[in-house]
Amino acid sequence: MSASKPPLVVSNVIFFVTINLLGFVAAPIYGLTVGFSGWAWLVAAVIWIASGLSITVGYHRLWSHRTFRAAWPLRLALAFFGTFSLQNSILVWAARHRVHHRHVDDVERDPHSIKSGFWHAHIGWMTRHWKTSEINFDEVPDLKKDPIVMWQHRLYWPAVWVLNLGVPAALGWLAGDVLGMILLASAFRLAFSQHCTFFINSLAHTWGKRGYSQDNTARDNGVIALLTWGEGYHNFHHAFQADYRNGLRWWQFDPGKWVIAACSWVGLARDLKRTARFKIQRARLQVYFQELEARLACPSAAPTWREVFEREMQQFRETVNQWQAIQAERMQAGADALRDRWRRTDFRTRYKELEFRLKMQSRRLAALQRSLQPQAA
Ligand SMILES: [Zn+2]
Ligand SMILES: [Zn+2]
Repeated sequence: MSASKPPLVVSNVIFFVTINLLGFVAAPIYGLTVGFSGWAWLVAAVIWIASGLSITVGYHRLWSHRTFRAAWPLRLALAFFGTFSLQNSILVWAARHRVHHRHVDDVERDPHSIKSGFWHAHIGWMTRHWKTSEINFDEVPDLKKDPIVMWQHRLYWPAVWVLNLGVPAALGWLAGDVLGMILLASAFRLAFSQHCTFFINSLAHTWGKRGYSQDNTARDNGVIALLTWGEGYHNFHHAFQADYRNGLRWWQFDPGKWVIAACSWVGLARDLKRTARFKIQRARLQVYFQELEARLACPSAAPTWREVFEREMQQFRETVNQWQAIQAERMQAGADALRDRWRRTDFRTRYKELEFRLKMQSRRLAALQRSLQPQAA
């Protein structure tokens, strides 16, 4: 991509330079010399949390991936607070994000492919007229039917100025700290939160584990999750993008997931999509097998381990075949049969048995991996 670079997007370059200078240079100088009022800290924190969660819960998991359905008051709140983040309208964001998922890592099609370099994936994709950065609204026909999305899209730029300059200025005037409020609640908060989001495209495709899929560069990274309201579990997310969760485990930091779950308890969200446990386990085991195969390719690996590997692989295939057979049987039985309590329980127990088998197999594979460690070293 460096051979003949397209022209700069001058407005974006001016914006990024200005906001980063104001946020990371002017704001700290002001804070150290004059100091920020308590109100400025409070407003900055509230906007930072509300706008960050709106990108995660709204822009990303609701509108880009349709991982749940939201009542209009929730959609309105997410569109409103998401506008504070200055990451373009929901329509534009989702159109680009869907392309990123479908063509991840493809330098010709992914808008922020990490294969075009860390800087490009982080911010460079927005600073030049790259062909891959063009917006295709055909990606979002469903969102064009959402009046709140279209309303936000039409009013986006005036709303951005009002929310990021007008609102902090007015609140600052009330608190007697106009400049401090603008520098902290707008400039610093915007610069900081934007880089955190950009880290998903750069760092979360570079640093971390690939436990669910090794087919793309997306990684699971707990540190990035801390900065992005749970979006750091990016390998899981790319493997199961229809799932409303990014952090699968209860101990993983995923406030986006917690907010969606809490909204469903009070009737603001419904139809939360979860990936079948078996599919997640199957993905984990496939990665295990890939890693083991690479280790066994080492000439010093004992032939007995290869036999063990083949046996495990065979068992894995059988389990997957059995699961597919139950799936087909359930489809054939139809919805009527599932109303019968015994049939429901029968299916559930058979699924559980297969899930347990995969769980035990993953323990054996972990042990096998450890056994192979000295040979691989
Ligand atoms: Zn996504
Ligand atoms: Zn990604």
